[in-house]
Amino acid sequence: MRRVVTIGQTTAGGPAFLVIAGPCSVESREQLLRIARKVRDAGATALRGGIFKTRSDPRSFQGLGADAFPLVDEARGETGLPFVAEVTSPEQIAPLAAHVDMLQVGSRNMHNTALLKELGRQRTPVLLKRGLAALLKEWLFAAEYIMQGGNQDVVLCERGIRTFGDDTRNTIDLAGAVLARQRSGLPVLLDPSHGTGRPELVGPMCAAAAAAGLDGVIIEVHDDPAAALSDGFQSLTPGQFAGVVAGLRPILRATGRDL
Ligand code: PEP
Ligand code: MN
Repeated sequence: MRRVVTIGQTTAGGPAFLVIAGPCSVESREQLLRIARKVRDAGATALRGGIFKTRSDPRSFQGLGADAFPLVDEARGETGLPFVAEVTSPEQIAPLAAHVDMLQVGSRNMHNTALLKELGRQRTPVLLKRGLAALLKEWLFAAEYIMQGGNQDVVLCERGIRTFGDDTRNTIDLAGAVLARQRSGLPVLLDPSHGTGRPELVGPMCAAAAAAGLDGVIIEVHDDPAAALSDGFQSLTPGQFAGVVAGLRPILRATGRDL
């Protein structure tokens, strides 16, 4: 049986293809509101923005933390779109859940069973990214850790895995994403931003996700990528994002879906 997960006023796993868009990190009120308005106008159906970041380099920007909460409230209020943000430890769950509609488990935390178990006791939907080098069965076990606690609202996200190739940041396992969807019955999204690390590949990979029957995408968008505090190199501009959404519509219609 296929599961449909409600996220604010939208869904994942139903007929609508979910398009989550926004900056890698919330950086300031103006940055978030400008990007949120632009991606909403271009067709995004949910917003993203990191508040507590899991960065590989400890000297890099770690996120605004709780200072981002009022900014997120404003972006949600103004656009009417649900907001997805990453949770990196069990203590962050309650404060984050008061401000966001979906909690993301990042790739580096997919094996953090203490975090997964605590998320299982919540009612907030979870976006569970695949670990950097996780087998499909390990990814599905991680989902079971959450669901075993009672929280059935889990959405999987393929964000690329480590392989020998270094022309793309990671290697998107599209077949694995489709297989995870078939085996689990859960909605599966694709993150082509972290999956490729290259803005020019985001559109083609979104098209592939839609054609392969996945349930949506999560895309990093920044209106000044060169000045972004994290992941600017892989972020689309709002104009590029609008082009990607426009390119998705005919593919979705051909497969009996829409945004
Ligand atoms: C992110 O979404 O910005 C992020 C850190 O993703 P991942 O955990 O997939 O690297
Ligand atoms: Mn990022």
